[in-house]
Amino acid sequence: MRVIKSPEHLSEALSRFRKRGKQVGFVPTMGYLHEGHLFLVRRARKENDIVVVSIFVNPTQFGPHEDFKRYPRDLKRDRKLLRRDHVDYLFLPSRSSIYPKYFNDVVDPGPLARYLCGPKRPGHFRGVATVVKRLFRIVHPDRAYFGEKDYQQSRMIEALVQRFRMPIKVRTCPIVREKDGLAMSSRNRYLSRRERISARSLYQSLLQAKKLIRAGERDVSVIKKMARSVLLPYLSKIDYIELVDPDQLTPLRKVQSRVLIAIACYVGSTRLIDNILVKV
Ligand code: AMP
Repeated sequence: MRVIKSPEHLSEALSRFRKRGKQVGFVPTMGYLHEGHLFLVRRARKENDIVVVSIFVNPTQFGPHEDFKRYPRDLKRDRKLLRRDHVDYLFLPSRSSIYPKYFNDVVDPGPLARYLCGPKRPGHFRGVATVVKRLFRIVHPDRAYFGEKDYQQSRMIEALVQRFRMPIKVRTCPIVREKDGLAMSSRNRYLSRRERISARSLYQSLLQAKKLIRAGERDVSVIKKMARSVLLPYLSKIDYIELVDPDQLTPLRKVQSRVLIAIACYVGSTRLIDNILVKV
């Protein structure tokens, strides 16, 4: 595995492969890797000749009171895991190489950022769209891999690729969970032992909501109320519980043939998100 810090060097190395008709798969991450990330890496490995993983904790997607500074980092361990999964290039750009002094390509995240996490994290999706476009311009992947864990992010990136007519296939992979159902996340490491147990309630509440839908309930307010009642004893704050159209992310009043149930809430001071797609 080659570790490259300079965007120019990476572009150069990859263009040589591209000229020989090799396919490039790309997995952008913020590091502190877990099995969720590695699932994306393995899928990229299966579907491409060359696999590139980036680790960049993107400052522009964090709000002023969010956890940018204390976001967990363990590069040594990450390198080992990526080497074990036969990654070809680990891209470790510096902040100034992603955002040079006169950088002005700030990207509008589009209408999908109006819903769910958008209003709760102002500027977050603008930061994501901006960094992803910048990374895509450096790597020029044939395929890019994202997790359903960040469902809204994946949808927004699919839309972004279409909007800028980038010849990139966006692959969205299923959520990898711990044994008790908690969606894997780098932020889970903030949880105390008690909070870790409380955090199970997110998936529990999604499953209960799904069960209610399967039992025939179609009224979104009834389903939300039930999901909230599962969460409330365990959580310090619920940012939202929403049932939305899985493509447009617009809120629903009645359950339709496909519905995304999405939750964002705080366990102690840690903000967690989770979701489930239900087809009826
Ligand atoms: P992050 O490092 O948190 O920015 O995540 C990098 C990529 O890994 C994103 O596309 C995430 O959606 C994806 N990811 C994170 N956690 C999981 C998970 N538990 N299962 C599947 N994909 C995940």
